[in-house]
Amino acid sequence: MSDKPEKFIDENGLRLDGRKLDQIRDVKIEVGVLARADGSCYLEFGNNKVMAAVYGPREVHPRHQQESTRAIVRYKYNMASFSVEDRKRPGPDRRSTEVSKVSREALEDQVFTEYFPKSAIDVFVEVLQADAGTRTAALNAASVALADAGIPMRGLVSACAFGKVDDTLVVDLSKDEDNYGQADVPIAMTQDGKITLLQMDGHLTPEELKTGLLMAQEGCRQVYEIQRQALMDHYAKMQDTNKDETEAPSVEEVVTAEENKDSEDVTTEAEEVEEEVAGETDEEKPEIKENAPEEEKEEEETDEKIVEETVEEPDTEEDDSHE
Ligand code: ADP
Repeated sequence: MSDKPEKFIDENGLRLDGRKLDQIRDVKIEVGVLARADGSCYLEFGNNKVMAAVYGPREVHPRHQQESTRAIVRYKYNMASFSVEDRKRPGPDRRSTEVSKVSREALEDQVFTEYFPKSAIDVFVEVLQADAGTRTAALNAASVALADAGIPMRGLVSACAFGKVDDTLVVDLSKDEDNYGQADVPIAMTQDGKITLLQMDGHLTPEELKTGLLMAQEGCRQVYEIQRQALMDHYAKMQDTNKDETEAPSVEEVVTAEENKDSEDVTTEAEEVEEEVAGETDEEKPEIKENAPEEEKEEEETDEKIVEETVEEPDTEEDDSHE
């Protein structure tokens, strides 16, 4: 762990990492990064790196946790043992249980749980690299992952902390500010400014709390814009991919299409041969059929006439003889 800095804010009003008092760290969001999750998000908040995965709505196990009128939301926050400087003992501890509980409560209200009775919506967040503010980073990622999973929500939840260092309020504490500062207040808000998480570590006057809340609200608004943009970019990209797929088919599609075409051609050729045969028969047969009876008829008629004539002749002769 680094030593306590002498000063957190320099004469220019800038913090140790060069940020202004009300400036949040850089946020990077990638949506839909895990193929097997229903929704997922990888998020970087400064040097924090977190991965969120959402599963559900799905069957509740164990069944006794099932709610007959709504879905239950479960939230599991976990810090990887390699996420901090000194190796963290793996597995759940008091801190991760607390963070999981308050984070679930911060999100649950935003989900239309009544749409999915008797089911569960599971949120898992893994902290891969920790650098102060992991619960807020995790909440931001979880909120985006829920949206990516298509879970109906009233809106996104955005989180950001404020605190006090050198008797000055600052937004989104860095590691040193968190470790040695006078106060740390993580906050989560809905997109219309409703607070869904507020914790406080340290001491603040009521005035400081009010001002700090406004600073954190602005920080959350900035995070919200980045979350929203990331989701929009992701779905625009997906639409483009789908469009590309229709324009340029994959190798498999081309091969399948060619195979189908060949089999169609074979069918057509076979059909043509059949048609030709049928055509020949049809063309020739009718001639035979049409001509044959007539010719036969004519021939028969001629034969009959000849016979008649031949037969009649003696009659005539007979008649003649009689006469
Ligand atoms: P948050 O990460 O939400 O700010 P805390 O204020 O409890 O939560 O923790 C501040 C920072 O302290 C964490 O981001 C992490 O860098 C560090 N930290 C937390 N727990 C441990 C731990 N068990 N071992 C080492 N470092 C830790």
